[in-house]
Amino acid sequence: MATDRVTQEYSSLVFTDADMQERLPKPTYKELRSTIDEGKPLDLKIANEVAHAMKDWALEHGATHFTHWFQPLTGITSEKHDSFITPKGDGTVLMAFSGKELVQGEPDASSFPSGGLRATFEARGYTIWDPTSPAFIKDEVLCIPTAFISYTGEALDKKTPLLRSEVALEQQAKRVLSLFGKSPKRVVTTVGPEQEYFLIKEDDYAARPDLVMCGRTLFGCAPVKGQELEEHYFGAIRPTVNAFMKEVDDELWKLGVPARTKHNEVAPAQHELAPIFEASSLAIDDNLLTMEKLKLLATHHGLACLEHEKPFDYVNGSGKHNNWSLSADGENLLEPGSNPEDNLQFLVFLSCLVAAVDNHADLLRSSVASAGNDHRLGANEAPPAIISVFLGDALTPVVEGLIKKEHTESAEREVMDTGVPALPNIFRDNTDRNRTSPFAFTGNKFEFRMCGSQQNLSDPNVVLNTAMAEECDRFATKLEGVPEEEFVSRALRFVRHTLRDHQRVLFDGNGYSEEWEEEAERRGLPNYKTTPDVLPCLVTPENIAFFGKYGVLNESEVRARYVTKCETYAKLLNIEANTMVDMARKLYVPAISSYAGDLATAAATKAELGIDCPAERELISQLTAGIDEIVAATKDLDAKNADARSKEDPQESDNAYRDFVLPAMDRLRAAVDGMEEICATDYWPVPSYNQLLFWV
Ligand code: ADP
Ligand code: MG
Repeated sequence: MATDRVTQEYSSLVFTDADMQERLPKPTYKELRSTIDEGKPLDLKIANEVAHAMKDWALEHGATHFTHWFQPLTGITSEKHDSFITPKGDGTVLMAFSGKELVQGEPDASSFPSGGLRATFEARGYTIWDPTSPAFIKDEVLCIPTAFISYTGEALDKKTPLLRSEVALEQQAKRVLSLFGKSPKRVVTTVGPEQEYFLIKEDDYAARPDLVMCGRTLFGCAPVKGQELEEHYFGAIRPTVNAFMKEVDDELWKLGVPARTKHNEVAPAQHELAPIFEASSLAIDDNLLTMEKLKLLATHHGLACLEHEKPFDYVNGSGKHNNWSLSADGENLLEPGSNPEDNLQFLVFLSCLVAAVDNHADLLRSSVASAGNDHRLGANEAPPAIISVFLGDALTPVVEGLIKKEHTESAEREVMDTGVPALPNIFRDNTDRNRTSPFAFTGNKFEFRMCGSQQNLSDPNVVLNTAMAEECDRFATKLEGVPEEEFVSRALRFVRHTLRDHQRVLFDGNGYSEEWEEEAERRGLPNYKTTPDVLPCLVTPENIAFFGKYGVLNESEVRARYVTKCETYAKLLNIEANTMVDMARKLYVPAISSYAGDLATAAATKAELGIDCPAERELISQLTAGIDEIVAATKDLDAKNADARSKEDPQESDNAYRDFVLPAMDRLRAAVDGMEEICATDYWPVPSYNQLLFWV
């Protein structure tokens, strides 16, 4: 029996495999495992027994309600709580929960985005238990992870296509592995999401309508210092933040979320939490729980947690690195070993991945596109909007050698000399880091770095998995039936040709540089700068066929996702524009006017006394001109927003937001921020960047 607190509490709120084993009759447990492990359909009798055991466990742990926990196209999680009570007819109740209630729910789906998949008169939607992700208890509610589909069977959520893409990739990867004489039970993708976020004081948050409504500041002049001293990154964690992080860890551990690393990030007030990787769909469920806990628990400490991609101008925004690999019964298929040049199986998966990323760069880019992430990508703080693959010092010579038909050995790991005898010798890593690369090989996994901090990671993983399935399919189709003695040379030829054909996507240099943008253009790599630029690629005939071929999304599901993404972009910008207009009229203009008025009264009094005050007069006229510009810019923004909002076609609406509303927002912000620079602090109606970012 474990004696330390953490091992005792870990997963205490999860209906774990150990709980199932203990509480279910042996044959029932075995049947359930074969559903979880091999995807066998579950019959209702088994479901009833599981439901019974799950309910008993939940009641013993204080649960009163249950909910189907799902991920509609908003990307966040949804829940509706039903209590277990069932009247007995004699004025008392018993606590009941059936197999049917476990397996299937029927929320009214009409108020979730569907992108036109479902008219309101057919509002029925179904939630379906995902037995591969364990049930857990949150605030006395038994949460059952589920997929969410429409009455006609189309996916209305983020989880369903992810699970389908896992099925597709598993099937194709098994074909590849069987050519290497292997027949693993399961091939799954693994994901380790590193979550960035900001913490500010809750009072400051509440005093900024832009943060409350939009999650980011829409105004604010530059703070007197930014991140240039680099003292925040990995700095000592201040006590309030530390107390918060401890509570987050404790709560996550109880929920079986393997939170591991926590530290201060580059920007002031920015932090990161990284878990240990898990199978993708579980990792994404756990990331959603993590984001929820970060937000909710911050309030216990008088803090507000900002998960937006760009809460503040002038300092870094927040991303979420998607560390990704493939695992066949625990064997990491992206592990190069000490001699990658002779590891044919690794080279096959590596070349497949390079091709997958190059072929579907447009879809990968679109999978991370959002109004929030547009502020990050390509802004020299996050990867550029151009997709490229970084292989590093160890693999690059191997790959270049292969392309040139030479056998090149990977670099040996060197012992490093620190010049201090007392320090132990360490080996240099095979590859340095390249923070500027969007898709970087980091030893035995790839790290996709373009994802936004508040996004649900399903979308990028759906693209990655499906693209990888396509390449594994191509390899297996080419090599199946090849005589054994020719296998190695033919497989090597596949690797060589694939790497040669996709060499353009390989880039180890500085992704932030302007030269790279030009070079990438010469190489013919796409460079979609904004969300409206890239979304149309979702619905090209090739991409519709691609998702359809692997059973991941059918045409109407793809179109629905496209429309939903377009609408979300326009809605977010509409809210931002409305908030700016509202703040300008009701907060900034009155504040500046009041300061100018008081200055004018003071100047008039001085003038009566015969004292000339040119500085005050100058300031008053600057403030007056500032008010005029704010009023004009507000009017302009209001009109441009009304115009963009009125467009029926979602793409046209998005284009209008990009081309007219965003510049109008910039104009208004510049006018207000200019006034913040000269207005007395006492008059300024909201907390400044100095205050928001540098509190103690
Ligand atoms: P780095 O310092 O290069 O970012 P870390 O070892 O800190 O690498 O890992 C970052 C994240 O990558 C962690 O969440 C970790 O669990 C995850 N990770 C490690 N190995 C894998 C893998 N095989 N598949 C998916 N994620 C992984
Ligand atoms: Mg990392």
